[in-house]
Amino acid sequence: MARYIFVTGGVVSSLGKGLSSASLAYLLQSRGYKVRLRKLDPYLNVDPGTMSPFQHGEVYVTDDGAETDLDLGHYERFSGVSAKKSDNITTGKIYNDVLKKERKGEYLGKTVQVIPHITDRIKQFIKNDSSKEDFVICEIGGIVGDIESLPFVEAIRQFANDVGKKNALFIHLTLVPYLKASDEIKTKPTQHSVKELRSIGIQPDIIICRSERPIPLEHRKKISLFCNVDIKNVIETVDVKTIYEAPISFFNQKLDIQVLNYFKLKSKKPANLKPWKKIKKIILQNKKQVNIGIIGKYVELKDAYKSLDEALTHGGIKNNIKVNLVRIDSEKLKVSEIKNKLKNLSGILIPGGFGKRGTEGKIEAIRYARINKIPFLGICYGMQMAIIEFARNQLKINKATSSEFDKGGVHIIGLMNEWEKSGKKVKGTDKDLGGTMRLGSYDAILKDKSKIRDIYKSRLIKERHRHRYEVDISYKEKFERKGLIFSGLSPNHKLPEIIELKKHPWFIGVQFHPEFKSRPLNPHPLFSSFIKAAKNHR
Ligand code: GLN
Repeated sequence: MARYIFVTGGVVSSLGKGLSSASLAYLLQSRGYKVRLRKLDPYLNVDPGTMSPFQHGEVYVTDDGAETDLDLGHYERFSGVSAKKSDNITTGKIYNDVLKKERKGEYLGKTVQVIPHITDRIKQFIKNDSSKEDFVICEIGGIVGDIESLPFVEAIRQFANDVGKKNALFIHLTLVPYLKASDEIKTKPTQHSVKELRSIGIQPDIIICRSERPIPLEHRKKISLFCNVDIKNVIETVDVKTIYEAPISFFNQKLDIQVLNYFKLKSKKPANLKPWKKIKKIILQNKKQVNIGIIGKYVELKDAYKSLDEALTHGGIKNNIKVNLVRIDSEKLKVSEIKNKLKNLSGILIPGGFGKRGTEGKIEAIRYARINKIPFLGICYGMQMAIIEFARNQLKINKATSSEFDKGGVHIIGLMNEWEKSGKKVKGTDKDLGGTMRLGSYDAILKDKSKIRDIYKSRLIKERHRHRYEVDISYKEKFERKGLIFSGLSPNHKLPEIIELKKHPWFIGVQFHPEFKSRPLNPHPLFSSFIKAAKNHR
């Protein structure tokens, strides 16, 4: 039977619950156990698909087509286990499910209530499809004390009783601030947060204390005493310079050992920290650097392109070079400034995006990369913009555009109303914005003797998608005659998946999001190749 580890947060949000959970997962795996990670989000959106990246950061997409919280990206990157639809749920989805059931009369006339109906649905989510795991780590979004997270906390309290306390562990992550003025470390917020947690029935077994500086033993003892937690289970986590240091730091603090001790389990093999140490060295000590420009609409919020930033870093790891990410706001990028702003870049990347704002800046930047032979990678929207740029400037279709942002003009990019996936029609109208995209993993067939085929070293690839619009295949010949090759197509040859420019050192556009599948311990070939080209361009 699986053992369940619940991770809650206190004091403030953004303390790194996701990263702590992902690091713990790696350590337990490395010691020979099978681990699954799950996230419960307290907001009312049914999924984060319709949320702006400014609000919530990147929307992470799973193989099976779920639009999920970006923490699932951390989970995948650290544990190497592909997340599934069934690994992320929101309050909105839970209520949606319960209300649908109520409308069908499935509660047999009972009054439908938060306890037990909502909490039962939460417990069902936690337990679902977990029998083959050794550990299920469940992260509860938000912080303890929020009105929104109450049903989740209540559900995990009940859950521990249901499976027996010996099979469930509560980890609480809090902030232990350092006050500069008085040169003091303060444990009071942690004490209050644990008090709050206990008032709703949960006694934490392990407290992880996030701090700017090491926490002296006397302070840890104080936390142990006031919060009723064994001193060995008061674990500090001091800010790290790179997130890839987190597994090393938690190993040094014996988090994994304390977890195993709690469940009376032994380590099946020693934890392997070597790959993380190597990565840390490349990232922190490398003098060689390469500047990659990311030209997008959401550059102000760091988390908006989380997986992309990570994948570029992974490309750097593979090439033993530090990647400097230069974020450029496409909306503010004036045509007259292009040269000045882009001249120090060794690679230009246009990420995914939606809507008209900032498109002209992107198109000009692509033109600059094409003409000046700067390595270019266009992802999803970035590929669509590259198509528009080429059509306008090389095929002389001056009004080439996408129906997404221009109802007039020549629609080389357009909306497909229906797709066929394994014989099933998936809706694709724009009435209901949630869940109307081509989402999740789709196959693509790569052309013989193309650059992309060289990079992937395979004819068939599977990559994750998240878009409504497609490049119109009927223009293929026209583009190819001018040297822009459609080097990857959907298996039915109807949807262009990859484009590449022949007479250019490295110019590739992909309709999918390769960044979701890149992992620090297994960098994605497309990003490795892109960074290699950028390294050669310096
Ligand atoms: N807006 C474009 C579409 O829907 C691209 C989406 C994306 O870049 N993820 O097709």
